[in-house]
Amino acid sequence: METDPTEAAEFRMMVELEERGLFHTAFHTPVVAIFAWDAMTGQFVAANAAAQTASGYSLRQLSKRHISDMVGPLPPKRLNRIVARLKRRRDQTVVFRLRHRDADGRFETSRIYLKYVSHKRATLVAHVQNVTRYQEARCAAQAAETALRTAIEALPDGFVLYDADDRLVICNQRYREIYASSAQVMRQGVTFREILQFGLKNGQYAEAIGREEDWLAERMAAHAELDGAVEQHLSDGQWLRIVERPIAGGGRVGLRIDITELKNNQALLEQYARTDYLTGLLNRRGLNERIGQLGQTLQSGERIAVFHVDLDKFKSINDAQGHDAGDFVLQHCAKILSDGSNDPQCVARVGGDEFIVLQKTRHDDKTVLAHAQGLIDTIAQPVTFRDRVCNISACIGIAFVDALHLENTRTALSAADLALNDARKAGCGSCRIFQTDMRQQAVAFIQMAQQIRTGLHRAEFEPFFQPQVNAVTQKIIGFEALIRWQHPKNGLVPAGKFLTTAERAGLMDSLDNIVMDRSCFALGQMLGWGLKNPKISINMSTTQLRDPNIGNRLLRYCDAYRIAPVNLRIELLESTLLDDRSDMIITNVHMLIGLGFDVELDDFGTGHAAIATLRQFSVSRIKIDRSLVENIDHDSGLQVITGAIIGLAGQLDVKVLAEGVETNAEQATLINLGCDCAQGYFHARPMPLLQLPAWIEGRDAA
Ligand code: C2E
Ligand code: CA
Ligand code: CA
Repeated sequence: METDPTEAAEFRMMVELEERGLFHTAFHTPVVAIFAWDAMTGQFVAANAAAQTASGYSLRQLSKRHISDMVGPLPPKRLNRIVARLKRRRDQTVVFRLRHRDADGRFETSRIYLKYVSHKRATLVAHVQNVTRYQEARCAAQAAETALRTAIEALPDGFVLYDADDRLVICNQRYREIYASSAQVMRQGVTFREILQFGLKNGQYAEAIGREEDWLAERMAAHAELDGAVEQHLSDGQWLRIVERPIAGGGRVGLRIDITELKNNQALLEQYARTDYLTGLLNRRGLNERIGQLGQTLQSGERIAVFHVDLDKFKSINDAQGHDAGDFVLQHCAKILSDGSNDPQCVARVGGDEFIVLQKTRHDDKTVLAHAQGLIDTIAQPVTFRDRVCNISACIGIAFVDALHLENTRTALSAADLALNDARKAGCGSCRIFQTDMRQQAVAFIQMAQQIRTGLHRAEFEPFFQPQVNAVTQKIIGFEALIRWQHPKNGLVPAGKFLTTAERAGLMDSLDNIVMDRSCFALGQMLGWGLKNPKISINMSTTQLRDPNIGNRLLRYCDAYRIAPVNLRIELLESTLLDDRSDMIITNVHMLIGLGFDVELDDFGTGHAAIATLRQFSVSRIKIDRSLVENIDHDSGLQVITGAIIGLAGQLDVKVLAEGVETNAEQATLINLGCDCAQGYFHARPMPLLQLPAWIEGRDAA
């Protein structure tokens, strides 16, 4: 026999009901099973429906039973003693176990809580609890709970369940691990707010530090609104996605999904998007962001100096020494610029070989210029890559932005670019500060480039041909093709007026094609006019000379007009050959000679004349520059230099032609010095193909 305090309390309540005359209602409750026996005789008096079900007996069966049948094999003496005791101690309940069969004949156990009730007639009242079913139900509930717990624990994410009062019902271990700093308060019944407050005290939420109150209010609001998904950053570096959903009957379930890796990858990607992969510097996007941030920290008297740095002839390092060497040079220069900057986060690589450095400064223009020159000097120090020395030089354009014009950072960048253009024009290793007229020049450049494009489209370009003669025999020795622009408004424009723009605008290829095509066509015409072995010289730009297909391109034009390569002379600038000695140019020159074209050196005497190299390149002729010809008749100094060139060329078996001969006296002096071949206004101006037959008439070809 045992007493259960809860059951006893329930039973007391029932007695209370009986005493209040409410027993009838209680008796018919479908949940609690109640029996009544007469306390004097032990005879069955009543049982409600629940008791009949619980005991497995119908009313008829029960009415025949004595209490001792119901409470198990108790000897009548013992039962009497119990009843007597209950009668004395009416607050006591005695509990019996009853084994009986259910409707299907299976054994079940019930507990009977027996009590003495004295009203009008003394009664033994029993409350029966079917232990088997109760246990089964409890086992089922326990099994369900265990299954749920296992499932929750198996979740890779933090799981939490709050009830309608926002009190913690259950959370998994992962949830405690995530919020390690507040795990110790995560007990059933603690409110969501209390957990947050505890975490806040321990500095658990990275975004809350310093603004705890506001953060708590925001977090509670989001929690109340069950906002779809919130991201949370914890102080230990974890990033979480919080998903909360309402559940039936109030309350909410929440998941904490670890998105730290995703966030870190995202941050890394953003970093990549702002960084130049080769040098680790900022790229243009990163620079644009940086310039805005820098502007905000500008103090009075400060301005931002924008340095636009461009490596000179970087392409030839790439071509001659390979891309590894090119990459090395870029990294080397990036380091120099970073080291020379007071903030390495302000250095960007913005193009193949272009960099931008931003620097906050209080200095005047002169000091800033000196700093830029210092960078140029450091870059110019030779460096070795795989035992080969790389000679690097750089130009720098500088512009300034002050606090008043911060919104014009784009203008400042373009101003630095314009200053750089000016520096480039001044030659390798130059440095310029932006001046307002540079912008006008730039506008003029853009307009001119556009006009050239239109002119190309409208076929306004064609070469003129300037004769070359033997001044002694008066025989024709060839022609030079010189490009001309038949401008609809400005009339005939000579090459010198537009070629630089065309070159900078990347339009040389189209002009070169016109000259090659028209020159081969002209040679065909000349053969038709009866000229034997006519020769036309064409000027070849450096861009063309770097093109590995240049030989094939020339051969195609020759084939198209049935011209032999030997009829074309190719003029190279002396400076191209000697200065920019990239492997590709040298290979191409040899290839052109191999294909049968004549190669000659133009503007000879203006570059770093090195006559010894003439042999190396198998140049067939040099053209003495006009600067050595002009006024040669009364300049003895010129006569010495030009005489020496002519003499040396003769010894090397290289022919000589004097350019820009304007007067008879100049011509006579040149003949005296041993140079018979000439080109210049004295003999003929460049003319369109159509005028050539008239000029040729009556003259012999050499
Ligand atoms: P260049 O190759 O030295 O050509 C000779 C230049 O001197 C031409 O100027 C010609 O018109 C000019 N000239 C000829 N005789 C005399 C003279 O007696 N006195 C004076 N003062 N000048 C004379 P142009 O046609 O304006 O060409 C200038 C430069 O442009 C050329 O110098 C050449 O380097 C380049 N060029 C011309 N046409 C072409 C072309 O089709 N392709 C390429 N790549 N460059 C070209
Ligand atoms: Ca020329
Ligand atoms: Ca020339």
